[in-house]
Amino acid sequence: MQHAITGRGRLLPMTGPPSGDLGTIDGPWIILVTDGVVVEVRPGGLRPGDPESVTDVGAALCTPGLVDPHTHLVFGGDRSDEAAARARGERYTGGGILRTVAATEATPDDVLRDGLRGRLGRAMATGTTTIEVKSGYGLTAAAEIRLLRLIGEAAAPLPLRVARTYLGAHAVPPGMTPASQAQAVIDALPQVASLADHIDVFCEPDLFDVSLARSILLAGRAHGLGLRIHADQLRRSGALSLGVELGARSVDHLEQATADDARLLADSGTVATVLPGPALLLRGGLPPVRALFDAGATVALGSDANAGTFGEPSMPLAIGLGVMIGCSVEEAWWAATRGAAASLGLADTVGCLGPGMAADIVAWDVEHEGAAAMRPGAIRPVRAWFAGRPRSD
Ligand SMILES: [Zn+2]
Repeated sequence: MQHAITGRGRLLPMTGPPSGDLGTIDGPWIILVTDGVVVEVRPGGLRPGDPESVTDVGAALCTPGLVDPHTHLVFGGDRSDEAAARARGERYTGGGILRTVAATEATPDDVLRDGLRGRLGRAMATGTTTIEVKSGYGLTAAAEIRLLRLIGEAAAPLPLRVARTYLGAHAVPPGMTPASQAQAVIDALPQVASLADHIDVFCEPDLFDVSLARSILLAGRAHGLGLRIHADQLRRSGALSLGVELGARSVDHLEQATADDARLLADSGTVATVLPGPALLLRGGLPPVRALFDAGATVALGSDANAGTFGEPSMPLAIGLGVMIGCSVEEAWWAATRGAAASLGLADTVGCLGPGMAADIVAWDVEHEGAAAMRPGAIRPVRAWFAGRPRSD
């Protein structure tokens, strides 16, 4: 089944580099889609032989669907009071995770599933077509398996592409040490691996240090999982270097990273995933986005929507905040699409609009990409296609 999408405004296919013009076409333009896959993107109008099935988006800005490569969306309870306390100047220690673990354990499956589905719905309503969701508010093998299963169940009826990440090494539960929890995370892998695409570690010196993180990630890799690390967020720990050494798909946060780290990443295949929302809220430093782009590192933007620090799975907001911390508008859009797809190991499937890529496409309620910086978090899709299918609601 072939379909054509046409427009007379700006199309950002993201086929160019982040520092360039993103392959931008000023309309008119046409995207030909067959069986959910882009077969051709070209300037100009319809020609003889083009499909009869056509959707015209008029003057709307059109981009690939947004990709959110870092979220923690399955949890129970509410910690908004902690956000207020932190804003009064109380230091964040990461200890609040255990409060969410207890609240999640006390929440029935159907309530957790509905809560997650609501958050995934908010992500789709803001233009996200691919999203990563981590476990990590369970910690025991049984509780982590429960959360990974619920992510799969919540995602199944949705058109959204959902990548699952096993984050048993998110915190140390009562009665455990970092070393014993790391071993428990590794021991659960035979049961967990079939429910996840990636494994992640919250690597901090007094939590899971580089040595424990290495053991966990190597074990995850042996079970076929892609590697991700919460790296150098609160303190500079060597996690970024570990990620590069192990060929991780992504090192995330990077608030304490330096220009030397940026050069190390630029020479690697590891993506730098920066999360401006929590970085701004936690006031513990900002990731060196300018140094990362200038060095030539592959940069992704993510929401980090989670239970304790930053709650909204909105990639238009991440783009707007990304510009506030140093990205150009073009870099921020690129990082929220093509960079984020690379962070998830999906660069051959989503994140740009060229022949052979998934027809995940969003037409926005604005005419220029700069609106994402001027109205952070406020731009909205007027139409969205998931693998060529228009969103039905
Ligand atoms: Zn995170």
